[in-house]
Amino acid sequence: MPRPYIASRSGEPLHRRTFDVLVLGGGIAGLTAAIAAARRWRVGLLTKSTFDDTTTFLAQGGIAAALGPSDSPELHFQDTVNAGAGLCDEEAVRVLVNEGPDRVRELMDICPRFDKVDGQIVLGREGAHSVARVVHAGGDATGSEVSSALAEAARVGSSVQLYENEFVIGLLTVEGRCVGALTLNLDDGGLTLNVAMVTVLATGGAGQVYGRTTNPPVATGDGIAMAYRAGAAIRDLEFVQFHPTGLAVPGQETVQLVTEALRGEGAYLRNAAGERFMISYDSRAELASRDVVVRAMVAEMRLEGSDHVYLDATHLDAAWLHQRFPRVTAGLAEHGLDLATQLIPVAPVCHYFVGGVVTDVWGRTTVPGLYASGEVASTGVHGANRLASNSLLEGLVFSDRVVRDLDRYIGRLGEDVRRLRFDLPEATADADGSDAVSARHRLTSVMSDKVGVLRRGDDLRAALADLNALTSELRFASLGEAEYELLNLLTLGTQIAKCALLREESRGVHLRDDFPAVDDQHWRRHVTLRLPTHEREEGVIGKVERS
Ligand SMILES: Cc1cc2nc3c(=O)[nH]c(=O)nc-3n(C[C@H](O)[C@H](O)[C@H](O)COP(=O)(O)OP(=O)(O)OC[C@H]3O[C@@H](n4cnc5c(N)ncnc54)[C@H](O)[C@@H]3O)c2cc1C
Repeated sequence: MPRPYIASRSGEPLHRRTFDVLVLGGGIAGLTAAIAAARRWRVGLLTKSTFDDTTTFLAQGGIAAALGPSDSPELHFQDTVNAGAGLCDEEAVRVLVNEGPDRVRELMDICPRFDKVDGQIVLGREGAHSVARVVHAGGDATGSEVSSALAEAARVGSSVQLYENEFVIGLLTVEGRCVGALTLNLDDGGLTLNVAMVTVLATGGAGQVYGRTTNPPVATGDGIAMAYRAGAAIRDLEFVQFHPTGLAVPGQETVQLVTEALRGEGAYLRNAAGERFMISYDSRAELASRDVVVRAMVAEMRLEGSDHVYLDATHLDAAWLHQRFPRVTAGLAEHGLDLATQLIPVAPVCHYFVGGVVTDVWGRTTVPGLYASGEVASTGVHGANRLASNSLLEGLVFSDRVVRDLDRYIGRLGEDVRRLRFDLPEATADADGSDAVSARHRLTSVMSDKVGVLRRGDDLRAALADLNALTSELRFASLGEAEYELLNLLTLGTQIAKCALLREESRGVHLRDDFPAVDDQHWRRHVTLRLPTHEREEGVIGKVERS
């Protein structure tokens, strides 16, 4: 396999850009950080695709914040901590719920299309929220409304320099400090050193590690893998949230989500016999937390030997349903389905990465100069199970905090990274190449079959053996986006399987068939991973000179 990641290529020039602040990722977390930072600093934002190709763009339900008269940050805190199954970082949750309402109001100034009736913001209800507190835009088109408004604000209303189709290969570190990132331009194949005093990782999640996912193709966990290689602590990788209601029809590359807000508006879950089974599992019935609903669905599907249950909204008003859920309506119509008249087949589907790069409440990772925000980060707000609609909020709140902390960090820097000179080693290639597409298919099959929603020790051990074999067989004649993504996915898949095997209990979204109970005595703690110093990527940087 060509090594190392941070490398130049024979005969090709290395371009160079310099910023005060480099933001990696163009979803809600990256755009929010970049817009705020650009008020003071010279900011560059890179994304490997376009601004409408993000997980943020797909968000349906909305953003949770204590804005209603019958709500309070304290209630939001309680709901978040209850959903988190004993692993929430309470300080981080306090930050989230206390600062959330102001951040959402600020977002509404940038994105005025949040749904209102008679001038009052409409609040939706979702699972495990004790009151209606989810603001939404365009019905179930919150993500596209918010993404478009933020991208527009960055393009025309700020000095952020935006670069699309710019794939981040790895983080540049010097003496343990992050000083930017090496990128591959996907249009012309050019390599660029993006040097910065501070780097903000906002590269989102890793749903693509499972074949069936609601996540877009960009969600390949690159940020978590590159931060790990650079020496950052990562944690909680076993907590992969499977959303209860992915549309269960064959032949979808990205599985359509049937938003939780539908159950919030009164839709039921029914088994093949037509029974509302959730009533016998939890007093909150369909509005129990996601992990509880998924467990119940898995139990029902097992009993019935089926691979799905049904979502039933046929008792709700048809015209209202289509107006409130235009995205879901249109998506279902592509499969010949109609919410108002038919039961919709649904099954759990990989949806959200609870774990990620460890940060404190200012978004600081364990690598100086590297911040993380959004789904790539593990701030501790989600514990072992994310409460619905808390993740867009997390990106807003913690990106704001990152920018507030920049003053402190940049102000303290004694040296100017602009004067750093890099002399990178050259990548070496293997003579014959593996096919990244078929290798990726092997990886996602292993993950779905052996590290899926319900896990067993034997399967996890077998998965690790398969993934190790796959890793050792890989040979690449050259390295491009497909190969880098595969390597990142393999890193994550292997670490997810390891962490899932270690955690011998069932907690939150981590379900072990062989350890079905919560084990507070041994496992009310995080699993944190960090590469030993000699294996970190810094070791592969060639000569570094300060001129
Ligand atoms: C279908 C769906 C519906 C959802 N609905 C909701 C909801 O209603 N409410 C809610 O709170 N949450 C929801 N979520 C979760 C939420 O959307 C995400 O957690 C959130 O949008 C993540 O934002 P982000 O900015 O961290 O990442 P993203 O929006 O995923 O952005 C990541 C960015 O990083 C870039 N990137 C990644 N790797 C690289 C690389 N190597 N080089 C360069 N760029 C890179 C990507 O191109 C992208 O621009 C939903 C998720 C899905 C999939």
